[in-house]
Parts: sequence; C-alpha cells; structure tokens
Amino acid sequence: MSVRRLVPYAVFAALLGGAIAALLVLFSALDGSTARQLARVDASQRLLTGMLDQEAGLRAYLSTADEDLLQAYSATRSRFDTLIEAELSQTDDEELRAALLAQQTTALAWRRLAERDASTFTVDPAVYRRTLRARTAQVDRFRAQNAAYREALDDARAARDEAILLRVLAALLVLTVALGGTGLAITRRRANRRRRYAEAQAEFASAMQSAVDSSEADALLKRHLERSLAGTTVTVLRRSDADDRLEAGTPLPPDSPLAPGIVDARPRDCLAIRRGSTHVRRAGEPLVACAVCGDCRATSCRPLLVADRVIGSVLVEHDDAEVPRVRERDERVIADSLAQAAPILSGLRTLALAQSRAMTDALTGLPNRWALQDALKRMLAQTARSRSSLGLVLLDLDHFKQLNDTHGHDAGDQALAAVGHALLSELRESDLPARSGGEEFAVLLPDTPLEGALAVAEQLRRAIAAIDLPFPGVTLTASFGVAVLPLHALEADGLMRAADRALYAAKRAGRDRVEAAAAPEDGERPPRALRAAPSA
Ligand code: GH3
Ligand code: MG
Ligand code: MG
Repeated sequence: MSVRRLVPYAVFAALLGGAIAALLVLFSALDGSTARQLARVDASQRLLTGMLDQEAGLRAYLSTADEDLLQAYSATRSRFDTLIEAELSQTDDEELRAALLAQQTTALAWRRLAERDASTFTVDPAVYRRTLRARTAQVDRFRAQNAAYREALDDARAARDEAILLRVLAALLVLTVALGGTGLAITRRRANRRRRYAEAQAEFASAMQSAVDSSEADALLKRHLERSLAGTTVTVLRRSDADDRLEAGTPLPPDSPLAPGIVDARPRDCLAIRRGSTHVRRAGEPLVACAVCGDCRATSCRPLLVADRVIGSVLVEHDDAEVPRVRERDERVIADSLAQAAPILSGLRTLALAQSRAMTDALTGLPNRWALQDALKRMLAQTARSRSSLGLVLLDLDHFKQLNDTHGHDAGDQALAAVGHALLSELRESDLPARSGGEEFAVLLPDTPLEGALAVAEQLRRAIAAIDLPFPGVTLTASFGVAVLPLHALEADGLMRAADRALYAAKRAGRDRVEAAAAPEDGERPPRALRAAPSA
C-alpha cells in the first residue's frame, strides 16, 4: 500500500488518539477538582470545629481556672491560625478569599473578647453571662460565615465542573465531527476507487467485444493490464495445439529476456499452462524453472482458461528486482480481466483458425484461390495509392496429367507440394504465392515492374525444373505468363486475363518457358499516364 493511501488512516488514528488523550486529561482534571473540593470542605469543617474548640476550651478554663486548660486552649488557637492561613494561601478565588478573611476577622474579634475575659477572670455569674453572650454572638457569626464559605465552595466547584463538562462535550463534539469527516472521506475515496475500477473494466470489456481479431484483443489485454498495474510489462502467450506451439501474441522488445525462451517454445514449457494455475517466479533458485520466463527477474504468470481449457497464459513482468508482492487489488484486476478476455480471445482465435483454414490450400500450405483474390484486391488498392506497379505471374505445370497417369495421384500430390515449397523458398517475404487451382499457381509481386516480374518468373521456372522428384524419368516443368499493372490492365480481372493469355502463349510456344503479356487490346489499354507510372 502506498504512503499516500495511508494518509487518511493516519489522520483518523491521530484524531482518535488526540481526542482520547484530551478526554483523559479532562477526566483527570474533573477527578482532581473533586479531590481538592473534598479537602477544602473538610478544611472548612475543621475551621468551624477549631472555632468551637477555642470557645469550649476558654469556657473550660473560665469555669475551672485550671492553667492546663488555658494551655490546651492556646494549642487549639494556634492550630486554628495555621489552618486558616493555609487555606488563605491556597485560595485564589476572590469570593472564597473574602469569605475566609471574614471568618478570620470574626475569629480575631472573638479572640479579643476571649483574651479580655481570660485576663479579667471573674466568678460573678452576671458578668460571666454577659461576656459569654458577647463571645457566643461572635461564634454564631463565625458559624454563619463558615456556612456561607462552604456554600461558596460548592458554587465554585459547580462552576468548575460545569466548565470541565463543557470542555468534555466540546472535545466529544470535535471528535465526532473529525472522525465522522475522516470516515466519510475514507468511504468516499473507496467508493470513488470502486467506481473508477468498474468504469475501467467496463471500458475494457466493451473494447474487447469490438476487437476484430485476436492480435487486437491480445494488444488490448496487454495495454489494459499495464495501465492498471503500475511498473509492469505484460505479454500474452498463445497456445496453438495444431502445431504444438507457444507464441507471443503481443510484440516482444528485442532485448526482452523472454525472446530466447519463446523461440520454439511448446505450450508445456510454460509452467502456468502446464499446471493450469498461477506461476510466480521468485528470487533465488526455483525448484522447477520455467523454460519461457526462467530468465526474467520477477514475474507472475497466469493461465488463460476457458471452461477448464488452457488457451494460453498472461505473463506479468515486474519492474522491481524483488519478488513481486501482488496486492489484493492487482490480483482482482488480473483475475477479472482474464476472466473477461479469455472467452473472447478463444472465440477470435477459433475464428482466425477457421478463416485461415478456409483460405489455405491443405496440400501445399499456400493461400488458395479465395485468399489470392483477397490479396489481389488489397494489393491493387495499395498499388493505385502508391502509383507503383504490381506484377502477376501465373504458372501451370506441364503435362501434369502424365505424371498422375504414370506414377499415381499421390506422386502428383507430392510434386504439387514440392512446387509450393519451391515457390516459398524462392520468393521475397512481400511477394505472395498461391495455388490458384489444380496444377496452377499464381504469384503476386507488389512494387514490381515488368522486367522484375519476368526475372522472378524465370527464377521460378529454373527452381521448378530443378526439383528432384523420387520418380524415375520425371522432370517437372512449368509454363509462365506474366502481366503487370498498370502496364497490361487496370483492374484485377483484366490483369488475370492478360497473364492467362501469356501463359497459354507459353504453352503454345512449347512449354517450360516464360511469356510476357501482349500489349492490351482496345478497351483494356490503360491511359498513357498510368502506363508510365514509376516503378520501385
Ligand atoms: P498442360 O501442359 O497442357 O498443362 O498439360 P496438363 O496435363 O498439365 O494439363 P491438363 O489440364 O490436361 O491436366 C491437369 C492435370 O492436373 C489433371 C489433373 O488430374 C491434375 N491435377 C489437378 N489437381 C490435382 C491434384 O490436386 N493432385 C493431383 N495429383 N493432380 C491434380
Ligand atoms: Mg492446367
Ligand atoms: Mg498443366
């Protein structure tokens, strides 16, 4: 998974972590606030008790005149002072400070009375009652102030808790929005990815449906996979059972490590085809090396399956030097694409095979009469476009009937196959030999003027005469008629007729020879400008 794809998840995790940390801080603040509040309520309680203890201690002394009780009173007084000073030092809140200071002032007022009473110690009940009333008034006042102080403490705590609670709610809100937003973004991205994937696959399926031949379909599959899987080179391998061959359906660059392995490869050489399952070429020495992709660095090869029949394979070469780590998504792209492509490729290949069988002469392996007509039409159009010339050579084996009659039909077939082979080996790649019927052959010579066509015909005549047949006393010869477009005709039928007439002229002249077509008759004569067309 690329780093860019991890970003939303990282944001999601960071937000979640941050929000949880904020909540923990807030909850611990809430907790600390509660603990502090309890300590302060306890201290306020002790302040009141301290005040009451002072009064009780003083009374005990005044009623007994026991000096020990006076000392106990003094200890209570200093504890009270320490406590109220400690509380004041910890209080920042103005209102609470004022409430504490009010209690301190009242305590001091009480203390002035108490110290006067202790120093003017009296047993007169009337005086005792009066001074007692004055002190009690101060104690009551302190009690009321202490109660107000505790109320203020409660209020302050409520306000603080409320503020913390609000922050908790705000943090939760931010968390919800952030997590919701990130979740939405992630869901959207996923939905977009799914949509783009579905669109790409639909585009591929429709392009495959409209492919006119298996080469175009192979190229489409290659392009689609290379576009979907970054850093890969894809080769489609075709299985041909007819000649037990495995060939590349898509062009291989000359420096491809596959190039040596694919020469003379048979279907079983490809491990994916042999096993009918994905073969991954990992780094290091494999247990069984694939004869086709064994020289590649990192490859994964999958069979192309149609109803359990393996019609070829698709080899994915990875640019990385390391073992290809195919992601789940890539696996899906490959599996879906292969499932879509395999039946179409199979159909197109079957069609191509049927077409090729229908256009090929079984005895010689040369194109037949129909293929010749197609090729003639195509080459005529090219010749017209390039304003060049097209040579046509027709040849007919001489006295072929005799060969059949003397040595049998099989011998005749053998001779016909030998002629087909001779034509193929003598001609250039761009020339097209065909068996036009019986013991007649035709050769189309694109871009060839009359002299060139006559030379080729002569070369073929010699080649046929040189065929060594294993039948005693048989020498194969043929007669040739040569016509050239646009010199002798401007269209296919005219060209055929001209070459045919030349062929029969050769027969009449004694056979085993080449004759050029005569000048065209009226009506077949091409305009002067065309006759002068340049030749290559
Ligand atoms: P010519 O020199 O005048 O062309 O004489 P020819 O005997 O070659 O011509 P003809 O038209 O009289 O005979 C053609 C022979 O070619 C007759 C036919 O049996 C033979 N032939 C045509 N097709 C085949 C084939 O596929 N196999 C075999 N063995 N013979 C064939
Ligand atoms: Mg004939
Ligand atoms: Mg003949």
